Amino acid sequence: MPDPFLLAHHASERTFSFAGGLSPISIRDQIVRSQLFIRRAIEKDFISPKKPLVVAGGGFAGVAAVLSALNADIPTTLIEKNARILSVQRCCNSRWLDPAEYDWPASHWDCSVLPCRPELAGPPVPWSGGKWASVLVTEWDSAYSNMKLLKGALLTEMLEYELVVARPSTTNPHHAVTVEVKKNGSGEQLDAAACLVCIGFVGEKCQIGKDHLTRGPGFWKPDDICDPHFGIGNSQPEIVISGGGDGALQDYLRITINPSVYGIKDIFTALSLPPLMQAKCRDAFIKANRMCLWGIEKSHDHEPLSWLQEQYQKVVDDLLELQTTKETLEKLIRRPLPRVRLVHSCSHFSSSYPANRFLVQLVATYLLRHHPDRLETLYSHKKLCKLEGIGHQCDGKEKTCGNQRHRYSTCEVEKCGGPDGPHKDVDKEADLVIIRHGLHDIDRLPQPLQELVIAKCRQILPYALFPP
Ligand SMILES: Cc1cc2nc3c(=O)[nH]c(=O)nc-3n(C[C@H](O)[C@H](O)[C@H](O)COP(=O)(O)OP(=O)(O)OC[C@H]3O[C@@H](n4cnc5c(N)ncnc54)[C@H](O)[C@@H]3O)c2cc1C
Repeated sequence: MPDPFLLAHHASERTFSFAGGLSPISIRDQIVRSQLFIRRAIEKDFISPKKPLVVAGGGFAGVAAVLSALNADIPTTLIEKNARILSVQRCCNSRWLDPAEYDWPASHWDCSVLPCRPELAGPPVPWSGGKWASVLVTEWDSAYSNMKLLKGALLTEMLEYELVVARPSTTNPHHAVTVEVKKNGSGEQLDAAACLVCIGFVGEKCQIGKDHLTRGPGFWKPDDICDPHFGIGNSQPEIVISGGGDGALQDYLRITINPSVYGIKDIFTALSLPPLMQAKCRDAFIKANRMCLWGIEKSHDHEPLSWLQEQYQKVVDDLLELQTTKETLEKLIRRPLPRVRLVHSCSHFSSSYPANRFLVQLVATYLLRHHPDRLETLYSHKKLCKLEGIGHQCDGKEKTCGNQRHRYSTCEVEKCGGPDGPHKDVDKEADLVIIRHGLHDIDRLPQPLQELVIAKCRQILPYALFPP
């Protein structure tokens, strides 16, 4: 019987992929995928100490696969286009990562360890407690170096090599896959029993469209949001965030919550939600998620996501009836509070982690109803439609537009995926513009690589072995 996990990630003969549009996409989820892959590929005898593996991409997914494979004594080749592994998060000292907090409202959201039950097979690098992304990279660097000392003979490291394509081997009867790589323009080939493609998501959309040259900061780039003056000498800047997915929601929370509160876990711990309210959120998420699982177009998601937003709003309204919640939020809110606008194109946010969705609805509702300035911070049914630099010429480079003022205006959108309506508002100005429009489509990749990434694959993954 075909293995359903391997089948879901099958790209071509004995080539599997965790790249492209997988969902959920967190680092923890990618580590879980890699562990499952190694376990299942061994069970199917696709890889073994006599059947070598090639892993393309040295991010958390690729490195987790390499470490798990070496643990099982499988000869492994790592192909990474950069000079170092884990390059995406290496310099990011402004994002907090916790192995379980995004599992909220599941019951183990505050356990902060991976795996939660020590007797179960864990990740190649145990992960305990929340930490800055760059710190997690340092820990994995050191685990990788230790593994090289221990099992270096089994590892072939090809840094600054790029995967070109993987295809069924026609020349080597002992190996199923031929992998083509290139370095400085010249190509090489290697054979393996199986190949795992972990070359990441195609790229982030940080511009509002092809014709607009303003480019917001990349998600994993270090930024100054935790700085009291936002790196621009202004403690109360005007900030615009465009987007309604996890990237936008996370930045909204980082801007509106006191920077001494590092992660989602600390916010939920302070709020101490009544169990019944958490259960309502869990129930609503499960129902909506089951509907979204097979959606591809925005129109497929619209109904379940609007329903989910409504259900969460009911819980938010109930929660804000409690005096303790208002007092806690009063302490959690950043002081002074910048004027932040989250511009998103429908009544609901995009498909996102329930923790982000719930907390943004809670904070935005609180600011609107109870903040002394009655701040309206959610700009629903809107899209940025004009964006231009003030005092600088936008050129499509993050460096040029970062920390610079911009002029913008919005247009109305009736429904997500629908056409843009006319401009309605006058031009406004923003000190910081953050654009979180998700990921580029796979057609941006060279043609041979397009066949090796998953276009859209929504999955329910195990929560990395939580306690019953
Ligand atoms: C807006 C946004 C917000 C996110 N928020 C979070 C969050 O809060 N928490 C979280 O845990 N995750 C978050 N993620 C997801 C996280 O970024 C990914 O899960 C993680 O980076 C994926 O790891 P990976 O190893 O699959 O890919 P990557 O980290 O992208 O690594 C891919 C590696 O492959 C290499 N590579 C690329 N092409 C080739 C090639 N042709 N040949 C060889 N090597 C190649 C790259 O250099 C890189 O080293 C977010 C993602 C986005 C876009």
